[in-house]
Amino acid sequence: MKFVKQLCTRAIGNVECASMDQEQLRKKLEFYRDLGVKQIYRREMPEPDAAQQAAVALPSLAPENDTLARIREDIGDCRRCGLSKQRKNIVFGVGNDSAKLVFVGEGPGADEDEQGIPFVGRAGQLLTQMIENTAAKEGIHIKRSDVYICNVVKCRPPENRTPQPDEMEICGQFLYRQLMTIQPKAICALFASSMLLRSSAAVTIPAELSASLRVR
Ligand code: SF4
Repeated sequence: MKFVKQLCTRAIGNVECASMDQEQLRKKLEFYRDLGVKQIYRREMPEPDAAQQAAVALPSLAPENDTLARIREDIGDCRRCGLSKQRKNIVFGVGNDSAKLVFVGEGPGADEDEQGIPFVGRAGQLLTQMIENTAAKEGIHIKRSDVYICNVVKCRPPENRTPQPDEMEICGQFLYRQLMTIQPKAICALFASSMLLRSSAAVTIPAELSASLRVR
């Protein structure tokens, strides 16, 4: 356990793991495993001394009383991964903040990057049609404004390539917090995100939500 904690602390690159108990650490590792992160890289970091550790305010996995506004504020003008270099806008998410259904895409495309809103342009029209028309034919009457829509990574990957594992790992913390805040009953993984969010049900779900969640 001590070794895993040291490895996780070095790999995730902050002091968060050091503050976790066994259950929190298990959830964190499961979350990254389900995102498709198969390897943890050991990054050499100087060991913080006890005084340093005590002085640092440690973030929790999903802070108590978290809100979407607070998560967006924490993202700020994010430069945590390489996707920040070419993006025009961070595409955080849009929709009902207590939605029962959340759609998760892979990452923003060109239109989304331009406008800072997920699933606009042609992909957005398709999604709206899927939500409002196709679902209605199945007897499910919902509007796009009833659901929440976001992506695994918040910045557009160059040439719309698939996000790299390290990019998903870093940005995934915000998706995790979004899902924990919204507490949806179902998550729909769109396009390649179902590959990225791989688990038995093709989606990553915070363990706290998994008992009550339906995934398509
Ligand atoms: S993809 Fe996510 S982690 Fe990377 S720069 Fe954008 S907001 Fe930050």
